[in-house]
Amino acid sequence: MAFESLSDKLQDVFKKLKSKGKLTEKDVNAALREVKLALLEADVNFKVVKSFIDKIKQRAVGHDVLESLTPGQQVIKIVHEELIDLMGSTQSKLTFSNNPPTVYMMVGLQGAGKTTTSGKLGGQIKKMGKKPLLVACDVYRPAAIKQLQVVGSQVGIPVFSIEDSKQPVEIAKAALQYAKDNRNDIVIIDTAGRLHIDEKLMDELEEIKSVVKPQEILLVVDAMTGQDAVNVAESFNEKLGIDGVILTKLDGDTRGGAALSVRSVTQKPIKYVGLGEKLEDLQPFYPDRMASRILG
Ligand code: GDP
Repeated sequence: MAFESLSDKLQDVFKKLKSKGKLTEKDVNAALREVKLALLEADVNFKVVKSFIDKIKQRAVGHDVLESLTPGQQVIKIVHEELIDLMGSTQSKLTFSNNPPTVYMMVGLQGAGKTTTSGKLGGQIKKMGKKPLLVACDVYRPAAIKQLQVVGSQVGIPVFSIEDSKQPVEIAKAALQYAKDNRNDIVIIDTAGRLHIDEKLMDELEEIKSVVKPQEILLVVDAMTGQDAVNVAESFNEKLGIDGVILTKLDGDTRGGAALSVRSVTQKPIKYVGLGEKLEDLQPFYPDRMASRILG
């Protein structure tokens, strides 16, 4: 599970802090140096680490903390609060359009988990009492339509596709009409991924975006790729504009660098996390719960 090693290291630092009783500025600085190393080893973006540590330092070395009865506890509390802040403070929920159908456009690189996550998300939205439609706009990978049909049938959600079309924009347009005709109030569009970000992919996504006017563009990234995931998020956000991130494969990510960096680098929230291959393994992202888990 994510954060194991980070969590262990932070607990060690905090144990030392708590055992000290009175703290000097030097003690706090030494502890923060260890926190910094632990975060860097967890593959957190170095700029993010720097500003995070600076903020804590500003709050922790003042008179109020050092002269308090439990300075160690105060420092830990500050780290906890700043961790929550780093991950976006509060849960960021999906928004719905006032003028249905609400369209969510799923984007991301190949293998990140887009198709699986489209199905998982559809399943969760269906449980809210809505009537989602999945749309297969990945026309390049021959197995992609079939894969979406399989996850769609597992969660009991219809899948719109046009088998022999190579025109994702046309498919998306037809899907919107289909949704209106069939009273689907949510449309989840699974777009094509590539191995790397390229101009052609971005042009295609831009075109789909202009036609379907999505309520949200959700970027799916693989947590196990660490800072690469953060760079991908930054690029997609600059080129296409995204509304939120879904971080997959957190179950296999032992470090946690992407989860801790994405929000700060892109200013866009993590909305959901993927915690396994099964369709129920998608959970809303709660910064406070995640921070508590990291601090143990
Ligand atoms: P796409 O190319 O972006 O559409 O990616 P897929 O949806 O085909 O997913 C690629 C692989 O990642 C599949 O084997 C999925 O089962 C797996 N996967 C997706 N999300 C998760 C997750 O949260 N945890 C784990 N362990 N595997 C996942």
